Amino acid sequence: MALPLLNVAKHDLKLPSSGEKIQYRPFLVKEEKVLLQAMEGEDEKEIIKALKQLITQCVDTKGFKVDDIAMVDLEYIFLRMRAKAVGDISTVNFTHKPGKCDGVIEVEIDLTKVEPTKNKNENDLVKITDEVQVRMVPPTVKALANLDSSKSQIDAAFGTIRDCITEIYFNEELFSVQDHTTKEVDDFINSLSSNQFSKLRDYFDNLPVLKHDIEYTCPKCNETETQTIQGVASFFG
Ligand SMILES: [Zn+2]
Repeated sequence: MALPLLNVAKHDLKLPSSGEKIQYRPFLVKEEKVLLQAMEGEDEKEIIKALKQLITQCVDTKGFKVDDIAMVDLEYIFLRMRAKAVGDISTVNFTHKPGKCDGVIEVEIDLTKVEPTKNKNENDLVKITDEVQVRMVPPTVKALANLDSSKSQIDAAFGTIRDCITEIYFNEELFSVQDHTTKEVDDFINSLSSNQFSKLRDYFDNLPVLKHDIEYTCPKCNETETQTIQGVASFFG
């Protein structure tokens, strides 16, 4: 007789940035292995790839496309999935002031309490001048997974910003980016002053991120510190 396979429960989740409702099952041990290996390698792109794979396997919702969701939603799904699959509490270890104190810190994080920061953008229209406004969308998983790591950080940031512009308004006139070539959009961005360009960057800086502050007292030197944890991999290990 074949061994019984465990019946896996389904859970509902509302994605914080899009509001989309999805249903998922917790990941299995064999599925988690791929991700753990990627995290050990510390290569951002490999981690995103493994997360995408894991979430595609576990989300069972019609029309859901992992490539189309915002990065913060991807991270959020994973933390909740991990809470159901392994447990709500993750233990994080690090060193207090490496080379100076070297106290060993061990902190427990309740993954179900981690929520994205608020979107600090009033809306998705960025006012460049009195005449020019630009409509932006948050970068999708696809946009970030396709980042060319051979490019410099500045080129990569430039490309991400370009990919997130959907519309440009000149006074009342609307230009839809999809009707124009990449070169034309590049030329538009290049025509901005650095002060104007920084308004586009601010849009990204104001988007929700998944981060968590932990306050701890170092057992070795007794100092109390606050450490901010950001990025999926840093919530574990
Ligand atoms: Zn210390």
